[in-house]
Amino acid sequence: MTAAQNPVALVTGANKGIGLEVARKLGEIGIHVAVGSRDRARGIHAVEQLKREGHSVELAVVDVNSQESIDAAIAALIKQRGRIDILVNNAGILLDWDDDASTLNLEKLRQTMETNFYGALRMVRAVLPHMQARGYGRIVNVSSTMGSLSYNSGGGGSSAPTYRLSKTALNGLTAIYSQVLRNGDIKINSASPGWVRTDMGGKNATRSVDEGTDTIIWLATLPKSGPNGGFFKDRKPQDW
Ligand code: NAP
Repeated sequence: MTAAQNPVALVTGANKGIGLEVARKLGEIGIHVAVGSRDRARGIHAVEQLKREGHSVELAVVDVNSQESIDAAIAALIKQRGRIDILVNNAGILLDWDDDASTLNLEKLRQTMETNFYGALRMVRAVLPHMQARGYGRIVNVSSTMGSLSYNSGGGGSSAPTYRLSKTALNGLTAIYSQVLRNGDIKINSASPGWVRTDMGGKNATRSVDEGTDTIIWLATLPKSGPNGGFFKDRKPQDW
């Protein structure tokens, strides 16, 4: 395979944390990765680090809240590489860890939905025509157990209510889009990474980025016989 024929992945929010590790692991298996970063300087820093490690990567300046930045980055990727095989919707924010449902802040909800839900939706809508044109695609929505309705109604706590709602909506996106993708070899799934040591998860989190990214990589590289429209943690189906 020539470099231009290598599969191409776009990972949002890949300048640090889970997204950076996903970019690294996809690079390790020969996939060319567009490293999404809303901030150019932070993105360049990550790209240089991954290049030093020997991976085939490029910068994609993508703020998932900006349709303009999404369209420009995808147009550039298609022009250069002609394909997008994998989208990992990883970019996310958590603004209300100390709130609960009784103190839910509507402005925080709007901001969180804008990034965690509408941002992912914008990305799916932008890459889908390119995947459909080639009849192949793997989309992974990086969700959370905190988005599970079963978990939330079964004693899962009520902190971070806007974050929970955004990830529930993201899981809805996975379920609904999986139904329109039934006919080709295009799959969309949600992944729960568990509680991971990143800037968002904090240093007391129970999992390393290596553990937290395993299921994401598995879903990003599923064979044709793999699942579509599911929610997974540790490669096992989760209740919605
Ligand atoms: P993180 O270290 O805070 O990284 C978040 C990434 O998202 C950063 O690259 C950030 O960019 C980017 N981002 C935020 N808003 C963006 C926007 N509008 N456009 C583009 N990029 C944006 O968090 P993480 O722990 O790696 O989380 C990654 C994903 O995993 C998130 O979706 C999160 O909800 C999910 N998750 C994490 C945990 C956990 O325990 N860590 C658990 C469950 C799910 P900047 O550097 O510019 O801010």
